[in-house]
Amino acid sequence: SKPLDGKVALVTGAARGIGRGIALVLAERGATVVVADMDADQASATAEAAGNGSTGLALNVADREAVDAAVAEVVERHGKIDILVNNAGINRDAMLWKMTDEQWDDVIAVDLSGVFYMCRAVGAHMRQQKYGRIVNISSASWMGNIGQTNYAAAKAGVVGLTRSIAKELARSQITANAICPGFIETDMTRGMPENLFAAQLDKIPLQRAGQPEDVARVVAFLASDDAAYVTGEVVNVGGGYKL
Ligand code: NAD
Repeated sequence: SKPLDGKVALVTGAARGIGRGIALVLAERGATVVVADMDADQASATAEAAGNGSTGLALNVADREAVDAAVAEVVERHGKIDILVNNAGINRDAMLWKMTDEQWDDVIAVDLSGVFYMCRAVGAHMRQQKYGRIVNISSASWMGNIGQTNYAAAKAGVVGLTRSIAKELARSQITANAICPGFIETDMTRGMPENLFAAQLDKIPLQRAGQPEDVARVVAFLASDDAAYVTGEVVNVGGGYKL
């Protein structure tokens, strides 16, 4: 038997990158995964690669009505949701004095409000079933990072949100933890200028960029019964990377 046999997991932003890595590792460990993403075609492809009855779902986490409908749809499809991973995220970097309202609003809407909408909708379901594992993907940037006023504020918000819901949901045997990836090789980081990429590598004691699986395996642990007594924690997964 596998650690996540019989579990249903909902992972947002799972079509590619870290989310895709999470979907694949959770399925490998026995879970059926709903791969939710704005990119519906790629989400279906990832679900197919994951196997185990996994399915794709078109979803914009910043759309609160769509979130409520999607959560109802998942419960209808699979009967329950045991594991929620809030991974969908965007960045719109700019220095404070150049940052537009739109850059600010877009990042807060997806990276912070999206996590809130998902936790509220799935949390209601998990409270009824008196079981749940919530893992929110924050970022090392929450400590403060040049060019990321919007992103750091949203990711710090995710830490406060996670610690608060951990306290509120504990009595229903639901755990909630956050992971702060450091510098992981995905489309998000491959888009960086080469000199900035090299400068980031220099800050990593383990001397390599992380891969989606490095984050995914820690998600799988927090989603498993091995982590039943761990809640409200913030786990850095960055090869020793500190801002
Ligand atoms: P990515 O851009 O490669 O993938 C993000 C995925 O989320 C895409 O499939 C995209 O379609 C989807 N998405 C974007 N907006 C969405 C929305 N509104 N609703 C649903 N899906 C949406 O990014 P990634 O590097 O894999 O990042 C995944 C998460 O990890 C993000 O929350 C990011 O902030 C966080 N993170 C990444 C790094 C890194 O170094 N890559 C470091 C720290 C934290």
